[in-house]
Amino acid sequence: MEATFSQFYKRTPEQRLAILAETLGLSEAEQQILKHRATQGDAPLLIENYLTTYQLPEGVAVNLRVNDHEYVVPMVTEEPSVIAAASNGAKQLAKAGGITATVHSRLLTGQVVLSDVKVYASIDDWIALHQNELLEVAKQAHPSIVKRGGGPKSIRTRDLGEGFVSIDLVVDVKAAMGANMMNTMLEAIAGVVQNKLHHTTLFSILSNAGDQSLTTATVSVPVSQLADQADKAQQVGKRIAQASRIARLDPMRAVTHNKGIMNGVDAVVVAMGNDWRAIESAAHAYAVTDGQYRGLSQWQLEDDQLTGTLTLPLPIGIVGGATKVLPLVAINQKMAKINSPEDLMKLIAAVGLAQNFAALKALVTNGIQQGHMKMQMRSLAMSVGATPSEVSVLTKQLSNTDDPNEAQARQLLSQIRNNKET
Ligand code: NDP
Repeated sequence: MEATFSQFYKRTPEQRLAILAETLGLSEAEQQILKHRATQGDAPLLIENYLTTYQLPEGVAVNLRVNDHEYVVPMVTEEPSVIAAASNGAKQLAKAGGITATVHSRLLTGQVVLSDVKVYASIDDWIALHQNELLEVAKQAHPSIVKRGGGPKSIRTRDLGEGFVSIDLVVDVKAAMGANMMNTMLEAIAGVVQNKLHHTTLFSILSNAGDQSLTTATVSVPVSQLADQADKAQQVGKRIAQASRIARLDPMRAVTHNKGIMNGVDAVVVAMGNDWRAIESAAHAYAVTDGQYRGLSQWQLEDDQLTGTLTLPLPIGIVGGATKVLPLVAINQKMAKINSPEDLMKLIAAVGLAQNFAALKALVTNGIQQGHMKMQMRSLAMSVGATPSEVSVLTKQLSNTDDPNEAQARQLLSQIRNNKET
């Protein structure tokens, strides 16, 4: 095996495919699928050992109103119902006047970590004394960000216990996510610490906490909008508030509550060519800020208004990384009218809130399955090989079946085909 993959990274995608086909027994049909993926721009150069392009569907959510502007939101997801729910939630919230979104700050923190520290105060004192010098070193490590009006802003230390100390650098990364410029600056600082403080550093890397890139989306919905009859509308409002409260109390529920929010958040983050693992990590860390994992959003019923709030750490970028390599990202930025990282942060938080509203409302009224089932039936129809012209007929038949499954889907599909032939 080792000989087969020797110098694999030097091969062309075609050669890699030939090796894999031989070693793993890929059929001709499977090889054709791997070969005929449309590549986006320089996507093959983004990663190592490139083989093919894995495509995900992109759709757009509509009806989103944020800070008095209407948005079309590109979303990339493989999950049925996500875009429908985002659009539906957005429409209801737009009717209520729309979402207000605010960016609290937009800074990135990085860490140079020291181990085997005997006296924390000696490190703390040294950093405090040399902070201007260290900030200058960081600036010199990536001077172009300073020219852009950003760059290193502050430096401090934290005692992590057990002899570990973190030197935290805070940087204004302007329009980038900033991982690489941060890491460059941190390694430069680590060099000075090793040379002048004579203390070995353990590692230097940005923190994905994102707690200095917080964005809040809020909305107030008149209760009367939640159902046709006043008493039912009041009930729906109360039940949405209760469902959100449960996510604050119960970590088991909070995970699912937050997954629903991330359905929308991730789909936009991917469409915008950003690092969704970073956004996921940041969101879940933020959800546990006070020591217990909690729902990221809160809905409260006061008098005749249901008010929803969602705060998320969103350390995203509109330049750098994959954003300028994947041509679709530029088109998606244009469609969503993104001109600054703050625009994108507000949009993502607003989508998360709309997604959450739609999910909670469905959950406490008709149940989640009613809306989902049609899309799930579509997926089931496609998974058994229904062609585009067969999908809608099969979906309808499956929707009328009790507890539909794959075997039934296959059987119904063959009946549809037999009926066509006769
Ligand atoms: P890049 O390394 O692509 O850097 C962005 C660059 O864009 C800047 O260095 C800057 O270069 C240029 N730029 C152009 N216009 C602007 C502007 N207005 N504001 C700021 N910069 C501008 O990307 P990032 O540093 O943002 O890093 C993101 C990538 O890092 C992602 O792919 C991510 O997956 C990856 N990553 C993530 C890690 C993590 O999250 N833990 C760890 C390591 C990597 P210049 O000024 O020189 O023109």
